Amino acid sequence: MQHHSVIIAGGGPGGLGVAATLEGWHPRFTGDYQFPSNEVQAFAKTNESNPLAFDPHELIDLGHRPIEFYRMRHHPEQDALPLDQWTLGFTKNPRIDWLILTTDAPGGLWNNVPRQQMTLGPAHWMELAHYSIGKFYEDSGRERDLNDLVHRDDLVTYYHAYAEKLGLNDHIQTGMKVTNISPADDDISGRFIVEAENQSNGEITTFSSDYVVFGVGPRSKLRTLNAKGLDQNYVSYAYTHPEDYPNDRVLVIGGGRSADWAAQELHDAGRMVVYVMRQKPESHLKLINDSRYLPYYRRWAEIISGEQERMGLLYESSVRAFGDDGVVTISTPEGLIQVQIDHVVVEIGGDPDYQILEQFGELTFHTKSDNFRFQLNQLVVDQATFESVDILGLYPAGYSAQGTGLSVIGFHAGCFLIAGDILRKLGAV
Ligand SMILES: Cc1cc2nc3c(=O)[nH]c(=O)nc-3n(C[C@H](O)[C@H](O)[C@H](O)COP(=O)(O)OP(=O)(O)OC[C@H]3O[C@@H](n4cnc5c(N)ncnc54)[C@H](O)[C@@H]3O)c2cc1C
Repeated sequence: MQHHSVIIAGGGPGGLGVAATLEGWHPRFTGDYQFPSNEVQAFAKTNESNPLAFDPHELIDLGHRPIEFYRMRHHPEQDALPLDQWTLGFTKNPRIDWLILTTDAPGGLWNNVPRQQMTLGPAHWMELAHYSIGKFYEDSGRERDLNDLVHRDDLVTYYHAYAEKLGLNDHIQTGMKVTNISPADDDISGRFIVEAENQSNGEITTFSSDYVVFGVGPRSKLRTLNAKGLDQNYVSYAYTHPEDYPNDRVLVIGGGRSADWAAQELHDAGRMVVYVMRQKPESHLKLINDSRYLPYYRRWAEIISGEQERMGLLYESSVRAFGDDGVVTISTPEGLIQVQIDHVVVEIGGDPDYQILEQFGELTFHTKSDNFRFQLNQLVVDQATFESVDILGLYPAGYSAQGTGLSVIGFHAGCFLIAGDILRKLGAV
């Protein structure tokens, strides 16, 4: 059985940041910086050459959240900092033995989002500090404003460049789906057994490890519709581009941002769209109004206030059945209706796949949601280390740890808590 000190499940922004730190890219604070409290400032100064070496519980004792300690150095202000004003630097140290097992290429779900997808926030919110997106833009000759939204083509290329630049690729196995994580028996070296399925040939490989980073992402278990005929060939579960739906009439099911994106893009590409949502109109209008800082929600406001000749909005409705020849039965407040369509796009989101951890019994969750309409159950963790309170040695990365925001800017600094704790336990800092 292959053994690694650390196995990271998932190669999205959550897993990649931990991997880079374990690869030896350790943070340091440089130049002039200021924390709001004098005690924390003095603490930072004392530890600035190796801010992974101390026990972050000391920060909690000073009344400061450890994740904020790193986040404040990475993002000290709202706008992007010019590269020469960064007070967070990195020093290369020896690597420890880690391996990423992941289904997609580096960058996680961004590899599969719609072809024209833009982010919800500025470029620098999406970056991982070890190799900034500003430096990537500079290195790749891209002339971009760091405070602008990013097109997914740039973002995916950035995450790929990040893995390449920091020397991570030799330790990332793609096309591998972690199917089960369980406690190891006493006679096996390591604390965990990790089973992974090769997605191209179905072969199962079993690994052992001392630590596990659980970074499978917020959509690793897609929700399923409660409707008949889900296997009709006109039903699709991964929207990428209007070209995939060449005929005129498309039914979109959802109501969150991904469904909004699909419905709008199909509408603007000239399709006749029927958009079915469970939510009330007020709730959808609130999302549209609250999101007007985004160009694609300003476009939604236009569509809603226009004639809507090609956009049929069915609120408080749900699909009951997909029949033959594109006949779909929908339950609406006015009763059951049937429409005939050419394609169906289902965009109802997902949840973190906690079933992978079922062998550990009941887990303690914290329910989290935010103004961006993201919501999920996060694992309760020690706020100084992000180690699970239920499974010692296991660290949720990305959103699945309690105490992060629900965006890359919110969770990225968690990689320093996780990697720092593992490195201290291994005596490597
Ligand atoms: C359309 C869309 C737009 C978004 N816009 C923004 C935005 O603007 N700003 C923002 O901050 N966030 C945004 N998000 C949220 C997005 O989740 C984060 O940007 C980020 O990708 C989360 O990183 P992660 O590493 O936690 O998860 P992911 O990016 O999901 O990465 C996890 C990876 O692990 C893989 N995986 C899943 N299960 C397994 C398994 N069992 N074994 C191995 N690998 C597995 C996944 O397929 C994925 O490749 C958006 C999400 C979507 C869908």
